[in-house]
Amino acid sequence: MTDTVLVTGATGFIAKHCIAELLRNGYRVRGTVRDPVRSAENVKRAVARAGVEASGIEIVAADLLKDEGWAAAAQGCRYMLHVASPFPITQPNSREELIAPARGGALRALTAATKAGIERVVLTSSTVAVMYGSGLPHGHIYTESDWTDTSRTDITPYIASKTLAEKATWDYVAKTQNAPELVVVNPGFVQGPALDPDLSTSLEVLQLMGKGAYPAAPRVEFPVVDVRDVAAIHVKAMTHPAAAGERFLATEGSASLFGIGRCIADELPDLKGKVPKFEMPDLMVRALAVFDKRLRSVLPELGVVRRCDNTKARTVLGHTFRPPEEAIAAAARSLRKLKVI
Ligand code: NDP
Repeated sequence: MTDTVLVTGATGFIAKHCIAELLRNGYRVRGTVRDPVRSAENVKRAVARAGVEASGIEIVAADLLKDEGWAAAAQGCRYMLHVASPFPITQPNSREELIAPARGGALRALTAATKAGIERVVLTSSTVAVMYGSGLPHGHIYTESDWTDTSRTDITPYIASKTLAEKATWDYVAKTQNAPELVVVNPGFVQGPALDPDLSTSLEVLQLMGKGAYPAAPRVEFPVVDVRDVAAIHVKAMTHPAAAGERFLATEGSASLFGIGRCIADELPDLKGKVPKFEMPDLMVRALAVFDKRLRSVLPELGVVRRCDNTKARTVLGHTFRPPEEAIAAAARSLRKLKVI
């Protein structure tokens, strides 16, 4: 019989690519959304744009903040990809606003998976749960052994929410009898093709650049990865015998915001006058952040280069990553095709 995989947050950018990859690999997919009436057909249409037959996707309701729906959603599934978690472009004032759905939602999903006898859960965490430790030497290369220090006061609510959710999940499986096996994927800044105009924050940044919202870029740089690689790694991690109990950094190189702008302009030359024209001095960014809330989350990043080692995903899962330029170019092309830049 064909195995069914539960994918949480089926409306999301990464989740839709995971669903497409699962269907390509012959799995049946059940996806959770907050509002099936509003989202079911949109999810199927978007996944079909990845070139797969998507009409058989089952869509059910489950909210990260509520208990209802999770038990029924998990029933009869062999695996779960827990991808849902809020990723807002503007940080809320309170950490709890993101921690409640991120950590509480992960525990709801894991509890339902345990009760339904799901074999393995793959959790979508982030490099942000890895790269903000304390007391590390300059130039440290981040690996799966590193953890963000949530007692740091300079991390954003989003960073705290992803770290605390991942920690709670490892804790849950360590302490719970008959808990499913857990694998965690920690992607960098995810680029690659959008399947519909419901954009993730990581593509909204590109859209804003393409629309000329940032005449100049703050001096920030982050690890990048293509969404098609993130999806492939989730599906490999779901069954690979050596993946159980492991974290996998999903990143390939890095890109600065200014460099991302240049990639967009190389791909879509008519946007050359819209993308950032220079890198802003850090002092200027700090001053502007007083007025522009969106800039506040980049303040701890100014001038900092964080590098991640993807050896484990390459060697254990046998994955080959696309280069960042290809991921960014594919994202730009897709936004143009969707007529959003
Ligand atoms: P999206 O914003 O596209 O997806 C987020 C998903 O979470 C949406 O399906 C959203 O549902 C769902 N969600 C948010 N709040 C709730 C809630 N209360 N109940 C149910 N569902 C909820 O972002 P991405 O696809 O990029 O992100 C997916 C995951 O990947 C997240 O866990 C994110 O932290 C992680 N990630 C993303 C990176 C990136 O650069 N994009 C990098 C590293 C990690 P709805 O459509 O209803 O809002």
